[in-house]
Amino acid sequence: MKRTTLTTLAVALLFSLQAQIQIKPLPQGGYEQRIRNYIDNMRIVDTHEHLEAQAGWMKSGKLDFMLLLQHYTYDDIRSAGMPKQAFNKLLTDSLTVMEKWTAIKPYWEATSNTAYSRAALLTADKLFGVKDLNGKTVEELSAKIKNAYQTDWYNHVLIEKCGIDYVVTDSDNHNLGDPGMFKYVKRFGEFIFAVSAEKIGIVAKQQNTPIKTLDDFVTALGVAFHKAMDKDNVAVKIGTAYERTLFFEDVSKERAEAVFNKIMSLPAGTVLSYNGSEIKPLQDYMVHRILDLAKATNTPVQIHTGLQAGDGNYIENSNPTLLANLFLKYRDVRFILFHGGYPFGGQYGSLAKNFRNVYLDMCWLYIISPSYSERYLHEWLETVPASKIMAFGGDFRNVENIYGHLLFAKQVVTKVLTEKVRDGYFTEAEAVKIAQMILHDNAIRILKLDQR
Ligand SMILES: [Zn+2]
Repeated sequence: MKRTTLTTLAVALLFSLQAQIQIKPLPQGGYEQRIRNYIDNMRIVDTHEHLEAQAGWMKSGKLDFMLLLQHYTYDDIRSAGMPKQAFNKLLTDSLTVMEKWTAIKPYWEATSNTAYSRAALLTADKLFGVKDLNGKTVEELSAKIKNAYQTDWYNHVLIEKCGIDYVVTDSDNHNLGDPGMFKYVKRFGEFIFAVSAEKIGIVAKQQNTPIKTLDDFVTALGVAFHKAMDKDNVAVKIGTAYERTLFFEDVSKERAEAVFNKIMSLPAGTVLSYNGSEIKPLQDYMVHRILDLAKATNTPVQIHTGLQAGDGNYIENSNPTLLANLFLKYRDVRFILFHGGYPFGGQYGSLAKNFRNVYLDMCWLYIISPSYSERYLHEWLETVPASKIMAFGGDFRNVENIYGHLLFAKQVVTKVLTEKVRDGYFTEAEAVKIAQMILHDNAIRILKLDQR
C-alpha cells in the first residue's frame, strides 16, 4: 500500500475512534484549560462520608502512614493475602513505623496498582509532598501526618484544600463541628435487624415504652424517625446490601406479624439469622414503613448499591434493579442510588432514566475504578437528566483521603466534559454548567441543604 493511502487510512481511523455525535459547533482553542480551571476552583458538595472527628484520630496507633491506606487499601491488602490478625497489629502502637512498613511491604507491592492505592499515593504527594511510599519515606510521611493533627487540620483540608461547602456524613455521632457545614444521615438498623427479643427490648428501653406487638414496633420506628429528622439529619441511609438482597417485597402485615411474634417468643439468648429467609418478611415490612415515613416527611433515601467493601460478599444482593418495585410504589420518595452501582453501571443508569424519583450518586466510585467512572459518566450524561446526578462523595473516615479522592473525581469529570466539548456534544458553556450541577448544585437541591 502507498504511503499516502496509509496516512489517509490512519487519519480516518483516528477520526472514527474519536467520533461522538456532533450537535454543537466545535469549541474555541483553550477550552480544556478553561474547563479544568473552573472545576479546580469551584465549590463542592460532598454527599457521603463516614468522617470521624479530628480528636478521634489523635488516639494512639492511628497517626502514621497507615492513615492514608485506610480504609479501602486495607481491603486490597487483605485481598492480596495478608492475614487479618497480622494486619490488625498494624493499627496499634505495638509496632514502630518501620516495623509496620516491613510487615506490609510485600502486600503493598502486590496491591499498589489498584486505584485505592493510587489514591493513597496521590494524597501523600499532594497533601504532604511525599512522592512515594517506601522504606525511605514512611517515617517522614508519618511525622508530617502527626504534625498536621496539631493544627486546625480538618478545616484546612475540607474548606481550603477541597473547597467543600457541605459534608454529608453517615454517622450517629454529630460531633464534627460547624452544623452549617456538617450534615448527617440516619440508618434505622435496629428496626431492620431486630433478630431477638433482647434487641427489640433495647429499642423499648431507649424509648422508655413497652414494645409487645408489631404495631408498637412500628410506632417506635416513627418516634425514632421524627426525632432523627429534627436533628441535623438530611436523609435516611439503607445499607442492607451488605447483609441481604435489595429486593424488599411488599409483604402483608400478617406475614410480618408472624415473624415478629416468633422473635418475641424465642427463648432468651436465641436469635433469628439477620440475613436469613425467616426474618426477611419482617425486614421487608419495616423498610416499607421507613419509606412511608420518608414519603410523609419528604426525606430523601440513600441506598447502597453495587460493590460491598471488605471481603466475602454476594454482589448479586446489591444489584440496583432489585429496587424497582420500591421506585414504583413510592413515587414521591427521592431514591439516591450510591456508588455508581458498580459493576451494574448500565442497569443503574437506566433506573434513573426510567424513574423520575431515582437519582445517581457517584460517591466512592472514582477510587473503585477511575476508568469505569469515566466510561459511565460519559454514558449517564447521554442517558440521564444531568439534574439527577451527584458526582462526589469521598466515602472515607479521614479528611486526607477525601482530598485524594476529590482529585480523582475532578480529573475524571474534567476529562469526560472536555471530551464531550471536543466532540461537539456539549458547548463549553454547557459543560461548565453541568460541572456546577453535578458537583454542587444538584446535591444542595436534592438533599435540601440550603433550607436548613
Ligand atoms: Zn459509605
